[in-house]
Amino acid sequence: MKSYALGIDIGGTNTKFSLVNARGDIIEAQHFRTEASEAFPNFIDRLREHVYPYLERHHADYRQIPVGIGLPNYSSVKGKLIAPPNLSWEEDFSEASFKEIFPGYLKLENDANVAAIGEKTWGQGRGCSDFISITVGTGIGSGIFCHDHLLTGSSGIAAEAGHIIVNPEGKPCKCGGRGHFESHCSVRAIKDEVAKAFGEELSFHQIVEHFKHEEPRILDIFRDTAVYFAIGLQQLMALFSPQKIILAGGGMVVGERYLDMIKKELQTVAYQPSLSDFSLVVSELSVAEGAILGAAALVISEGNV
Ligand SMILES: [Zn+2]
Repeated sequence: MKSYALGIDIGGTNTKFSLVNARGDIIEAQHFRTEASEAFPNFIDRLREHVYPYLERHHADYRQIPVGIGLPNYSSVKGKLIAPPNLSWEEDFSEASFKEIFPGYLKLENDANVAAIGEKTWGQGRGCSDFISITVGTGIGSGIFCHDHLLTGSSGIAAEAGHIIVNPEGKPCKCGGRGHFESHCSVRAIKDEVAKAFGEELSFHQIVEHFKHEEPRILDIFRDTAVYFAIGLQQLMALFSPQKIILAGGGMVVGERYLDMIKKELQTVAYQPSLSDFSLVVSELSVAEGAILGAAALVISEGNV
Protein backbone atom coordinates (compact mmCIF):
# COMPACT_ATOMS: atom_id res chain seq x y z
CA MET A 1 0.00 0.00 0.00
CA LYS A 2 2.68 2.51 -0.87
CA SER A 3 0.46 4.48 -3.20
CA TYR A 4 -2.03 5.83 -0.65
CA ALA A 5 -2.08 8.20 2.28
CA LEU A 6 -4.74 8.51 4.95
CA GLY A 7 -6.21 11.99 5.39
CA ILE A 8 -8.05 12.76 8.63
CA ASP A 9 -9.97 15.96 9.30
CA ILE A 10 -10.91 16.41 12.95
CA GLY A 11 -13.64 18.99 13.34
CA GLY A 12 -15.65 20.14 16.34
CA THR A 13 -18.69 18.18 15.10
CA ASN A 14 -17.43 15.37 12.86
CA THR A 15 -14.18 13.56 12.18
CA LYS A 16 -13.83 12.63 8.51
CA PHE A 17 -11.23 10.40 6.95
CA SER A 18 -10.33 8.61 3.74
CA LEU A 19 -7.52 6.98 1.87
CA VAL A 20 -6.33 9.30 -0.89
CA ASN A 21 -4.15 8.33 -3.83
CA ALA A 22 -1.33 10.37 -5.33
CA ARG A 23 -3.72 11.87 -7.92
CA GLY A 24 -5.91 13.26 -5.13
CA ASP A 25 -8.76 10.77 -5.51
CA ILE A 26 -10.80 10.10 -2.37
CA ILE A 27 -11.10 6.32 -2.07
CA GLU A 28 -14.02 5.95 0.36
CA ALA A 29 -14.77 8.80 2.75
CA GLN A 30 -16.04 7.93 6.23
CA HIS A 31 -17.02 9.98 9.23
CA PHE A 32 -18.04 9.73 12.87
CA ARG A 33 -19.10 12.23 15.49
CA THR A 34 -16.22 13.91 17.32
CA GLU A 35 -18.13 14.21 20.64
CA ALA A 36 -16.35 17.41 21.57
CA SER A 37 -16.92 17.07 25.31
CA GLU A 38 -15.25 13.66 25.66
CA ALA A 39 -11.73 13.22 27.00
CA PHE A 40 -8.96 13.15 24.39
CA PRO A 41 -7.82 9.55 25.18
CA ASN A 42 -11.39 8.34 24.55
CA PHE A 43 -11.37 10.10 21.20
CA ILE A 44 -8.11 8.37 20.27
CA ASP A 45 -9.69 4.99 21.13
CA ARG A 46 -12.69 5.73 18.95
CA LEU A 47 -10.51 6.99 16.10
CA ARG A 48 -8.64 3.69 16.13
CA GLU A 49 -11.89 1.71 16.30
CA HIS A 50 -13.20 3.47 13.19
CA VAL A 51 -10.02 3.64 11.15
CA TYR A 52 -8.38 0.23 11.68
CA PRO A 53 -11.26 -1.86 10.23
CA TYR A 54 -11.50 0.61 7.33
CA LEU A 55 -7.80 0.25 6.56
CA GLU A 56 -8.03 -3.52 6.82
CA ARG A 57 -10.92 -3.55 4.37
CA HIS A 58 -8.73 -1.64 1.91
CA HIS A 59 -5.71 -3.89 2.58
CA ALA A 60 -3.74 -1.00 4.07
CA ASP A 61 -1.39 -1.46 7.04
CA TYR A 62 -1.87 1.03 9.89
CA ARG A 63 1.82 0.58 10.80
CA GLN A 64 3.00 1.86 7.42
CA ILE A 65 0.37 4.12 5.94
CA PRO A 66 1.41 7.83 5.82
CA VAL A 67 -1.15 9.80 7.82
CA GLY A 68 -1.94 13.52 7.65
CA ILE A 69 -4.26 15.07 10.23
CA GLY A 70 -5.93 18.47 10.23
CA LEU A 71 -7.04 19.90 13.58
CA PRO A 72 -8.66 23.17 14.66
CA ASN A 73 -6.38 25.62 16.50
CA TYR A 74 -3.38 23.31 16.33
CA SER A 75 0.08 24.86 16.34
CA SER A 76 2.61 22.72 14.47
CA VAL A 77 5.37 24.89 15.96
CA LYS A 78 4.36 24.16 19.56
CA GLY A 79 2.77 20.75 18.97
CA LYS A 80 -0.24 21.86 20.98
CA LEU A 81 -3.85 22.89 20.60
CA ILE A 82 -4.26 26.56 21.43
CA ALA A 83 -7.71 27.37 22.84
CA PRO A 84 -9.78 25.24 20.43
CA PRO A 85 -13.28 26.77 20.58
CA ASN A 86 -15.26 23.55 20.17
CA LEU A 87 -13.07 20.88 21.79
CA SER A 88 -12.25 20.24 25.44
CA TRP A 89 -8.83 18.66 24.78
CA GLU A 90 -6.41 21.47 25.47
CA GLU A 91 -5.04 19.85 28.66
CA ASP A 92 -4.73 16.17 27.75
CA PHE A 93 -3.97 16.50 24.02
CA SER A 94 -0.79 14.76 22.94
CA GLU A 95 0.73 14.15 19.53
CA ALA A 96 2.28 10.93 20.88
CA SER A 97 -1.21 9.40 21.17
CA PHE A 98 -1.64 9.73 17.39
CA LYS A 99 1.84 8.28 16.86
CA GLU A 100 0.90 5.24 18.95
CA ILE A 101 -1.97 4.32 16.67
CA PHE A 102 -0.30 5.48 13.42
CA PRO A 103 3.40 4.65 13.83
CA GLY A 104 4.33 5.32 10.19
CA TYR A 105 4.99 8.77 8.73
CA LEU A 106 2.62 11.14 10.53
CA LYS A 107 2.05 14.85 10.24
CA LEU A 108 -0.41 17.16 12.00
CA GLU A 109 -1.35 20.69 10.98
CA ASN A 110 -3.85 23.39 11.78
CA ASP A 111 -7.03 22.89 9.69
CA ALA A 112 -6.86 26.32 8.03
CA ASN A 113 -3.27 25.63 6.92
CA VAL A 114 -4.36 22.17 5.76
CA ALA A 115 -6.92 23.82 3.47
CA ALA A 116 -4.14 25.97 1.94
CA ILE A 117 -1.91 22.91 1.46
CA GLY A 118 -4.84 21.12 -0.22
CA GLU A 119 -5.23 24.06 -2.63
CA LYS A 120 -1.49 24.10 -3.32
CA THR A 121 -1.43 20.37 -4.07
CA TRP A 122 -4.73 19.82 -5.91
CA GLY A 123 -6.66 23.05 -6.07
CA GLN A 124 -6.36 26.58 -7.41
CA GLY A 125 -3.09 27.14 -5.57
CA ARG A 126 -1.23 24.82 -7.96
CA GLY A 127 1.59 26.71 -9.58
CA CYS A 128 1.13 29.75 -7.30
CA SER A 129 4.05 30.77 -5.09
CA ASP A 130 2.00 33.39 -3.24
CA PHE A 131 -1.64 32.82 -2.41
CA ILE A 132 -4.06 32.92 0.49
CA SER A 133 -6.86 30.47 1.14
CA ILE A 134 -9.79 31.62 3.24
CA THR A 135 -12.29 29.12 4.60
CA VAL A 136 -15.64 30.68 5.41
CA GLY A 137 -17.66 28.48 7.73
CA THR A 138 -19.03 28.96 11.22
CA GLY A 139 -15.83 30.96 11.74
CA ILE A 140 -13.22 32.15 9.22
CA GLY A 141 -9.86 30.40 8.87
CA SER A 142 -6.99 31.15 6.54
CA GLY A 143 -3.65 29.87 5.33
CA ILE A 144 -0.97 31.94 3.62
CA PHE A 145 1.68 30.75 1.17
CA CYS A 146 4.49 33.24 0.76
CA HIS A 147 7.29 32.41 -1.73
CA ASP A 148 6.13 28.78 -1.67
CA HIS A 149 6.36 28.57 2.13
CA LEU A 150 3.44 28.18 4.47
CA LEU A 151 3.50 31.07 6.90
CA THR A 152 3.36 29.83 10.50
CA GLY A 153 4.75 32.72 12.52
CA SER A 154 6.73 32.23 15.72
CA SER A 155 4.03 30.29 17.51
CA GLY A 156 2.31 28.52 14.63
CA ILE A 157 -0.82 30.68 14.77
CA ALA A 158 0.03 33.20 12.04
CA ALA A 159 -2.43 33.80 9.23
CA GLU A 160 -5.46 34.11 11.50
CA ALA A 161 -7.17 36.40 9.02
CA GLY A 162 -10.52 35.71 10.71
CA HIS A 163 -9.34 38.03 13.46
CA ILE A 164 -8.17 41.08 11.55
CA ILE A 165 -10.34 44.12 12.18
CA VAL A 166 -12.81 45.09 9.46
CA ASN A 167 -14.94 47.43 11.60
CA PRO A 168 -13.48 49.10 14.70
CA GLU A 169 -16.98 49.77 16.05
CA GLY A 170 -18.16 46.34 15.04
CA LYS A 171 -19.63 43.23 16.57
CA PRO A 172 -17.89 41.26 19.33
CA CYS A 173 -15.92 38.24 18.15
CA LYS A 174 -15.91 34.82 19.86
CA CYS A 175 -12.16 35.26 20.45
CA GLY A 176 -12.85 38.15 22.84
CA GLY A 177 -11.99 40.89 20.35
CA ARG A 178 -14.30 43.18 18.40
CA GLY A 179 -15.13 43.99 14.79
CA HIS A 180 -13.19 41.05 13.37
CA PHE A 181 -13.50 39.64 9.82
CA GLU A 182 -15.08 36.53 11.35
CA SER A 183 -17.60 38.44 13.45
CA HIS A 184 -18.90 40.20 10.31
CA CYS A 185 -18.49 37.75 7.43
CA SER A 186 -18.73 34.16 8.76
CA VAL A 187 -21.78 31.98 8.26
CA ARG A 188 -22.61 32.56 11.92
CA ALA A 189 -22.46 36.35 11.43
CA ILE A 190 -24.78 36.22 8.41
CA LYS A 191 -27.22 33.95 10.22
CA ASP A 192 -27.29 36.38 13.17
CA GLU A 193 -28.07 39.32 10.86
CA VAL A 194 -30.82 37.36 9.11
CA ALA A 195 -32.33 36.36 12.47
CA LYS A 196 -32.43 40.04 13.48
CA ALA A 197 -34.09 41.07 10.20
CA PHE A 198 -36.61 38.20 10.09
CA GLY A 199 -37.29 37.79 13.81
CA GLU A 200 -36.48 34.06 13.52
CA GLU A 201 -33.52 31.78 12.88
CA LEU A 202 -33.11 30.50 9.32
CA SER A 203 -30.75 27.75 8.23
CA PHE A 204 -27.94 28.82 5.92
CA HIS A 205 -29.52 26.68 3.21
CA GLN A 206 -32.75 28.68 3.54
CA ILE A 207 -30.77 31.93 3.46
CA VAL A 208 -29.04 30.88 0.22
CA GLU A 209 -32.40 30.00 -1.34
CA HIS A 210 -33.77 33.45 -0.41
CA PHE A 211 -30.64 35.04 -1.88
CA LYS A 212 -31.19 33.19 -5.16
CA HIS A 213 -34.81 34.41 -5.21
CA GLU A 214 -33.60 37.97 -4.56
CA GLU A 215 -35.32 38.49 -1.22
CA PRO A 216 -34.58 42.20 -0.63
CA ARG A 217 -33.61 41.96 3.08
CA ILE A 218 -31.27 39.05 2.36
CA LEU A 219 -29.67 40.88 -0.58
CA ASP A 220 -29.08 43.91 1.69
CA ILE A 221 -27.40 41.74 4.32
CA PHE A 222 -25.07 40.20 1.73
CA ARG A 223 -24.30 43.65 0.27
CA ASP A 224 -23.32 44.88 3.74
CA THR A 225 -21.31 41.71 4.40
CA ALA A 226 -19.51 42.14 1.06
CA VAL A 227 -18.28 45.57 2.21
CA TYR A 228 -16.63 44.09 5.30
CA PHE A 229 -15.39 41.12 3.29
CA ALA A 230 -13.62 43.44 0.86
CA ILE A 231 -12.03 45.38 3.74
CA GLY A 232 -10.65 42.09 5.11
CA LEU A 233 -9.28 41.04 1.72
CA GLN A 234 -7.82 44.50 1.12
CA GLN A 235 -5.62 44.25 4.20
CA LEU A 236 -4.32 40.84 3.20
CA MET A 237 -3.60 41.99 -0.35
CA ALA A 238 -1.77 45.11 0.79
CA LEU A 239 0.41 43.05 3.14
CA PHE A 240 1.12 39.93 1.06
CA SER A 241 0.52 40.83 -2.60
CA PRO A 242 -0.90 37.36 -3.38
CA GLN A 243 -1.44 36.08 -6.92
CA LYS A 244 -4.75 34.65 -5.77
CA ILE A 245 -7.09 34.60 -2.84
CA ILE A 246 -9.04 31.35 -2.84
CA LEU A 247 -12.36 31.35 -0.98
CA ALA A 248 -13.66 28.03 0.30
CA GLY A 249 -16.08 26.57 2.82
CA GLY A 250 -19.84 26.36 3.28
CA GLY A 251 -20.16 30.15 3.36
CA MET A 252 -19.18 30.38 -0.31
CA VAL A 253 -21.97 28.15 -1.67
CA VAL A 254 -24.00 31.35 -2.06
CA GLY A 255 -22.67 31.63 -5.60
CA GLU A 256 -21.25 33.90 -8.25
CA ARG A 257 -23.45 36.90 -7.48
CA TYR A 258 -22.10 37.18 -3.91
CA LEU A 259 -18.55 36.86 -5.25
CA ASP A 260 -19.31 39.72 -7.67
CA MET A 261 -20.55 41.89 -4.77
CA ILE A 262 -17.26 41.32 -2.95
CA LYS A 263 -15.23 42.01 -6.11
CA LYS A 264 -17.10 45.25 -6.70
CA GLU A 265 -16.34 46.49 -3.17
CA LEU A 266 -12.74 45.36 -3.51
CA GLN A 267 -12.27 47.57 -6.58
CA THR A 268 -13.14 50.55 -4.37
CA VAL A 269 -11.12 49.80 -1.24
CA ALA A 270 -8.07 47.93 -2.55
CA TYR A 271 -4.55 49.27 -2.65
CA GLN A 272 -4.73 49.65 -6.42
CA PRO A 273 -1.33 48.15 -7.38
CA SER A 274 -2.29 44.94 -5.54
CA LEU A 275 -5.17 44.41 -8.01
CA SER A 276 -2.91 43.84 -11.02
CA ASP A 277 -2.10 40.17 -11.68
CA PHE A 278 -4.48 39.24 -8.90
CA SER A 279 -7.58 37.06 -8.94
CA LEU A 280 -10.25 36.31 -6.37
CA VAL A 281 -11.63 32.83 -6.93
CA VAL A 282 -13.81 30.21 -5.25
CA SER A 283 -12.23 26.85 -4.48
CA GLU A 284 -12.95 23.98 -6.86
CA LEU A 285 -12.43 21.40 -4.09
CA SER A 286 -15.72 20.26 -2.58
CA VAL A 287 -16.49 21.47 0.93
CA ALA A 288 -16.94 17.89 2.14
CA GLU A 289 -13.78 16.46 0.64
CA GLY A 290 -11.42 19.43 0.65
CA ALA A 291 -10.39 18.99 4.28
CA ILE A 292 -9.59 15.28 3.83
CA LEU A 293 -7.63 15.99 0.64
CA GLY A 294 -5.69 18.74 2.39
CA ALA A 295 -4.83 16.46 5.31
CA ALA A 296 -3.62 13.74 2.93
CA ALA A 297 -1.62 16.36 1.02
CA LEU A 298 0.38 17.00 4.21
CA VAL A 299 2.13 13.68 3.70
CA ILE A 300 1.65 13.18 -0.03
CA SER A 301 3.28 16.45 -1.04
CA GLU A 302 6.46 15.39 0.71
CA GLY A 303 6.83 12.41 -1.56
CA ASN A 304 5.88 9.68 0.87
CA VAL A 305 3.29 8.13 -1.39
ZN1 LIG B 1 -11.74 37.42 16.69
